[in-house]
Amino acid sequence: MLLTMPMQGRSGKNGYRAIRKTRDWINIQPLQTGGVLDEAAMTALMEYADGYAICDYCNGCLDTIPNPPVADLTREILPAFLGCHSVRLTTGAREGKFAVFHAMTRPGDTIVVDANRHYSTYVAAERNGLKVVEVPNSGYPEYRIDVRDYIPLIERHRPALLLLTYPDGNYGNLPDARLLGTIARKYDVPLLINGAYAVGRLPVSLAEIGADFIVASAHKSMAASGPLGLLGMHRKWEERLLRKSERYGGKEIEFLGCTARGAGVVTLMASMTRLQERVQAWDRQVAKVQWFCGEMQTLGFTALGESAHRHDLVAFESPRLYEISQTRREKGYFLYKELKKRHIWGIRPGQTRRFKVSTFAAGQEELQVVVDAFRDIIDRFA
Ligand SMILES: *Cc1c(COP(=O)(O)O)cnc(C)c1O
Repeated sequence: MLLTMPMQGRSGKNGYRAIRKTRDWINIQPLQTGGVLDEAAMTALMEYADGYAICDYCNGCLDTIPNPPVADLTREILPAFLGCHSVRLTTGAREGKFAVFHAMTRPGDTIVVDANRHYSTYVAAERNGLKVVEVPNSGYPEYRIDVRDYIPLIERHRPALLLLTYPDGNYGNLPDARLLGTIARKYDVPLLINGAYAVGRLPVSLAEIGADFIVASAHKSMAASGPLGLLGMHRKWEERLLRKSERYGGKEIEFLGCTARGAGVVTLMASMTRLQERVQAWDRQVAKVQWFCGEMQTLGFTALGESAHRHDLVAFESPRLYEISQTRREKGYFLYKELKKRHIWGIRPGQTRRFKVSTFAAGQEELQVVVDAFRDIIDRFA
């Protein structure tokens, strides 16, 4: 018997056919704007779509596969891109954090993290039995992290590790990572940078920050199909993180012997040149988001996070839309529906009072369409 799947898309008597209607829409969904593939990456994806296809020429270790050239990617291209000594592929940023926590701490240890941290930081810590102490942010409306606030917490808790979210996924704030690198070295505590929203969007270098580890999310910010992430590290931790099985000499224990053994890896490979170019054009991205914030402000929206915003992810507060939602039968869902009608994708269903957008993938003309849509929605319903 044929099973048909009731998923988005179509299922008929010949089984399930996946259709993603939103693919060509204007995309301002923060999770998605940095992960869009170009044609070359799409082609690579199809070529290696079969399960374990990447392992044709594997001799026991993902990072040394010569064809496709995973070896060049992980041994040369990515360390240069991240400014670090060695890089391992992971299934995502969170698995990189988990591996670092696991290798660097013991259950019951304390780690100090910023209050804007991602939930996966907390969950990875929980799975390792760690206590999490948070450096508070400055609160509404900027939610800034002042990295000097790590100091009293380091002195009080003697943490095994520090983590900084750079930038965070709520407000797109970019704290002073370099200064925290200096603080971490002074107190001799290892520092992990969570660059899930940075690596692949803006230039980031572990060496320049002076930190010990960095994690990246390739499906979020590196134009790759996932799940795929990176863990970059300073040489001094290689022995600890890359410890090998006593029984299976080629297999690294923290990575359970192998990680992202799928087509995501070749999509990242296909995107590397584009990534190297696009991080150099980061200034233009910043100018674009600042322009967008200005336009939204004239419509009565307030941008949260650091004023003079420095990242494409930005949260807005919109009391006017909330008021409108109270008069609509669909309540908060009206905004999602109105934007959908205009083929603008990315506001979560139900959100009106506060919502996040990313200006990374859309060009200025497309963003103008978004601004006009908001203006039109307000004019029509207010
Ligand atoms: C998206 C995100 C993550 C999770 O990334 P994965 O690669 O999916 O694990 C972690 N941290 C931050 C700050 C994020 O925004």
